[in-house]
Amino acid sequence: MDSMTKRDYYEVLGISRDAGNDDIRRAYRKLARQYHPDVSSEPDAEARFKEVTEAYEVLNDSERRQMYDRFGHAGVQNGGSGMGGFESGPFGFGIDSLFENLFGGARTARRGPRRGADMRYHMVLEFEEAIFGVEKEIEVTRQAVCSRCNGSRSEPGTQPTRCPVCGGSGEIRRTQSSFLGQFVSVSECERCHGRGNIVLDPCKECRGQGSVRAPRKLEVRVPAGIDEGFHLRLSGEGEAGDPGGPPGDLFIEFSIKPHSVFRRMGQDLHLEMPVNIAQAALGATIEVPTIDGITELRLEPGTQSGDTLRLRGKGVPNLRGGPRGDQIISWSVLVPRNLTEKQKQLLRELGDTLDVPNPDDHEERGFLDKLRDAFGL
Ligand SMILES: [Zn+2]
Ligand SMILES: [Zn+2]
Repeated sequence: MDSMTKRDYYEVLGISRDAGNDDIRRAYRKLARQYHPDVSSEPDAEARFKEVTEAYEVLNDSERRQMYDRFGHAGVQNGGSGMGGFESGPFGFGIDSLFENLFGGARTARRGPRRGADMRYHMVLEFEEAIFGVEKEIEVTRQAVCSRCNGSRSEPGTQPTRCPVCGGSGEIRRTQSSFLGQFVSVSECERCHGRGNIVLDPCKECRGQGSVRAPRKLEVRVPAGIDEGFHLRLSGEGEAGDPGGPPGDLFIEFSIKPHSVFRRMGQDLHLEMPVNIAQAALGATIEVPTIDGITELRLEPGTQSGDTLRLRGKGVPNLRGGPRGDQIISWSVLVPRNLTEKQKQLLRELGDTLDVPNPDDHEERGFLDKLRDAFGL
């Protein structure tokens, strides 16, 4: 609310400027009841309620009231607690509990049947399984509804009895008086943990828990293209909930074993492919592995180490049904080791001819020119 358009706090509360603290409280209590958004049918009830509460917070605090009297809204703009935020009421408790206090009502602490906990399962996949998908049977040990008592927690033939502490409501109410009215605090009954009943003759199978840990086999369909960091959610396959409550979910996380030659980067597969100097210099037809099998590729003459070639659509399928990624081949030109005498001789002869730069090879010439410039050769 802009301070220029803000209404005078005394006017908001409908009190005179010399009103005492009791007048302020009485006025606030009356207006709060009138504009509380849960009970008021007036369209601007919420805004009015905030206005009223803000006015009360300032005028009920003698220091801030003094500032307000001297400087108006500007005097209390940045002052202290509660202004504008409405996170807490005048007494430090939440505004919801303020309403409860004012109206003697209370939100219930009694809980419904609790949902079961979520579970995690770690699955290790072969490299190809992650790429093409796989079906796997897994065994998960989890809390399952006890088959002897069907989750009732009581021996078959017996019934739980009403909790003597809370009388079956599952909650304990404590009432205090304050100037605003009845202060009602509600907490979960400690005897029955909010259930409202207690088991006198617990089920022998689950010892009164209503559920037992039991292994269960599940068929999991891993989609093509799954990667580490993804998870699969199997709805309702987690721990059993309270009787009547839904089970939790099962989350499957993945580790993927490395491949002997491929490296996966997102949807692309990288392969470093060795070729010898003759193949690289003269060009050749090379058999190259892909994840789908061997394929033949033409290696261009003059290929250098680190040159790459992209095979479109030979990568990892898209989890969401888009096109497959690519395979990227990085050529690695190997310098031969352990040469025979004959090979050495051939290389020497080749080397003698390479000492004289080929005038047609502009790249080579360019580099030699740079060397001469740099070292004054
Ligand atoms: Zn049982
Ligand atoms: Zn109880």
